[in-house]
Order: sequence, then C-alpha cells, then structure tokens
Amino acid sequence: MANEGSQRAIATGSTAIPHWYDPDGDVPTIVEGEDATVYDDEGTAYLDFQAQLYCCNAGHSNDVIVEAMTGQAERIPYVSSAKHNDARSALARRLGEIAPGSLSDVLFAVSGSEANELACGIARRVQDAPKVLTRWQSYHGGTYGAGSLTGDPNTRATLERHAATTGAGKFLPPLPECFDADSPEELAEQAADHVEFVIRNEGPDSVAAVLMEPVGGTSGAYPAPPGYFERLREICDEHDVLLVADEVITGFGRCGEWFGVDTEGIRPDLLTFAKGVTSAYVPLAGVVLDDRIGETIRAEEFDLGQTFAGHPVACAAGLAAIGEYEDGLIGNANAVGPHLESRLRELEDRYEEVRTVRGRGLLWSVVFADPVTGEPFHDSFAGDEGENPVAAVRSAAQERGALFGGGRPDDQVIVSPPLCVTESEIDEAVDALAAGVEATFG
Ligand code: PMP
Repeated sequence: MANEGSQRAIATGSTAIPHWYDPDGDVPTIVEGEDATVYDDEGTAYLDFQAQLYCCNAGHSNDVIVEAMTGQAERIPYVSSAKHNDARSALARRLGEIAPGSLSDVLFAVSGSEANELACGIARRVQDAPKVLTRWQSYHGGTYGAGSLTGDPNTRATLERHAATTGAGKFLPPLPECFDADSPEELAEQAADHVEFVIRNEGPDSVAAVLMEPVGGTSGAYPAPPGYFERLREICDEHDVLLVADEVITGFGRCGEWFGVDTEGIRPDLLTFAKGVTSAYVPLAGVVLDDRIGETIRAEEFDLGQTFAGHPVACAAGLAAIGEYEDGLIGNANAVGPHLESRLRELEDRYEEVRTVRGRGLLWSVVFADPVTGEPFHDSFAGDEGENPVAAVRSAAQERGALFGGGRPDDQVIVSPPLCVTESEIDEAVDALAAGVEATFG
C-alpha cells in the first residue's frame, strides 16, 4: 500500500502520528523527484502541481542547489547564528538586492510561522503598539503566536485551542462574496474602506501593523482587485500603521516576479519569506526590513535569535536557488503562466460546478460550487460533515497522475507547479484534473 510507511510507524508504537495519516491509503509515499515529477515507493510518477506545499519552486532534485548545499556542508555545516558566516552574509545581501525599494535589511528565522512572529514582534516594538491585524481567509502559520494571525476557517478549529489568541484582529478579504460591489474597482474601494474602519475601530494608536498575503495562498489563490493595495498603503501611512507582506508562498517567482508585492507595485514596510527561498530543500525563513526600521532595531538592543536561523547549509541553498530563479526559472514561469491560466479557464467554461478560476503567475485556484444553490459543496465553516466532492476531484486527478493542493476553505483545487514546469506537463496535469472533474460529477 502506498502509505505503508506511515502505517508501520503507528504500528511500531510511534507517538508522532502524522496529521496526514490516511487510513484509506490515498496518500502516496514519495521517495524520489526530478523537476516537476515525483515518484512514490511503487515507482508511480506524479506531476507535482502543488510543488509539495507551494514551495519546491525550482523543481525537485535541482543539481545546482544540491551541490551548493553539499559544498557548504563539506566546508562547515553549521556556524552559530551569533557569529558571521560568508554564505549567510551573501544571502542577506542578495535578498536585500531583490526585495523592493528600501527593503534591504534581513533577519533570518527557520519557518514561515516564525518569520511572521518575528515581523509582528518588530512591528510592535518599533510602533510601540500591541495589535496586528490580518484577514479572514488567510494563512500565516500554525505555531503558538503565528496561529493567532491565521484566519482560515479550516485551521482555526485547531488553532482556537492551540494558539495564543491575543493581539490579532481580523478584517474581511477583498473577495466579491464579502462585499456588495458592482465592479472590481468598487470592490477594492469597499474592501480597503473596511480595513480603515477596522483600524479606526481598534484605535490607530494601538495598531502596529496590517499583515497580509499579496495574493491569498492556501485560502484560494485570490489576487486583490486593482487599486486595493495602493489604497491600503495610503491608509496605513495615514494612520501610521506598518504594512507587512507575507510572501511565504508568493515570493521567489511564484506569481511571476521576485515577490507578490512586485506584481502589485507596492512597497511594504516588512516582508516575510520562507518556502521558496531554498526551493524548500532545507528550512529557511526570515524578514526583510525597510532600512528605517532596520536602523531602529539595530540601534536598540536586539538580543533575540534562534539556533538554526540562517543555517549556513540553508543559506547556501538559498543563494543557489535565487541564482536558478534568476537564470531562467522566473522567465519560464512567465512564459508558461498564460498557458496554465487559459487551460484552467477552459474548466470554468466547460463545467458548471467550477464557480471561478483565479490566481496569478503559477499560483491558481479552481473554485467549485453547487451549480443549483451556488453554495460550496462542503460547508467547511460548519465543520467536516459529509463527503466533499472537491476532495474526490483531487483524488481522481491523483489516480490519473497529477497532484494538486486543497484550499482552506476546501471548496477548491490549488494549482501551483514548480517554476520549471513545461507546457506539455501543464496539458497533462490539467487533462488529469478535467478527467477528475468528470469522474466526480459525471
Ligand atoms: N505564511 C503563508 C502565506 C503560508 O502559506 C504558510 C505555510 N503554508 C506560512 C506562513 C507558515 O509557514 P511554515 O509552515 O513554514 O511555518
């Protein structure tokens, strides 16, 4: 069976039952990968249209990255995060170069959750204000602190008992179903006005930052309507609130530019990254700070840090991955992105169960709804009751050789292939998805 390994782990008495444990044997045990393809322990090949967790942006087993990691491990694998290391300094400089405008100071962390916690801590400290506001239908992490930032309905059921619940007020995302707007422009205006209302209501002096994903990630690859981010930038400036971009998914070419904010033409005050920085070959994350904030932080005592933050092997991987993105992968993402979009839009035209297709670059979501009621098939807001046909669509696509992600709420299929994907792989994977829709809905 495909998931024999995880079953064995449980049978031998492991207390760490993985949360992805799947008694029906639907989850393949992945043992190898190359470019956009992964292989399970029975040798079955799958096109990885989730890039695992939206993170293996350079594809699997990229030699340049692997060699850079090996070379660093041979020279010196670990150097204390309180000392200098050449790979770490070089990566910090490189990140400062590719980040927008005056964002050039970098603090490293290990995971996206910790990077967001670090950003919140910095914002609260420099603004001398306690609150950070985030969107409903967002994901910013699952640790004790970052969990309270996350606003997706699926994860919140767990987080409400798990995470610190202080300090993170929520506002509505700029989705058409949340407002009563006749055009994208009106939606942008209403959604941004709503954020201003929440800031005023909380008390601007008490709000350190507004933190959000430039394109909603696991909550459904939703881009903001035109003008939303420009207006948000103005609102933050008017109320002296920092704007923090969570680029954990949207960074490193995923949306067609270095960062999601580049596709919006806006400058955040802080930018958090993780996942794609090393193509997920080894954990690394961090915060890029506007120079003004960097100076403030450095002028004060900042005696915080994690043992593994900026691990040299990870930094070597990061430098190599950024080189790969620059040397052709972002170019390829832009070359094949329109093909992916048009193939997905065919699904929107062809199947009445597909409510909408949305996204940017190589980050897309196919959103499903009941064609009669217009409601999601699976009301994840009410809990996990009943069969969810959207999960069945993903399983059917998997049986046909293509892996896709699930959304939160789970009324969608998230499409996020590695940046090295080819047009023929896109055709193959979208055909598998279409066949999955037909197998599920008839
Ligand atoms: N921010 C975003 C936008 C994410 O999608 C995620 C993880 N999916 C995180 C933060 C948390 O990152 P990590 O899992 O590395 O803690």
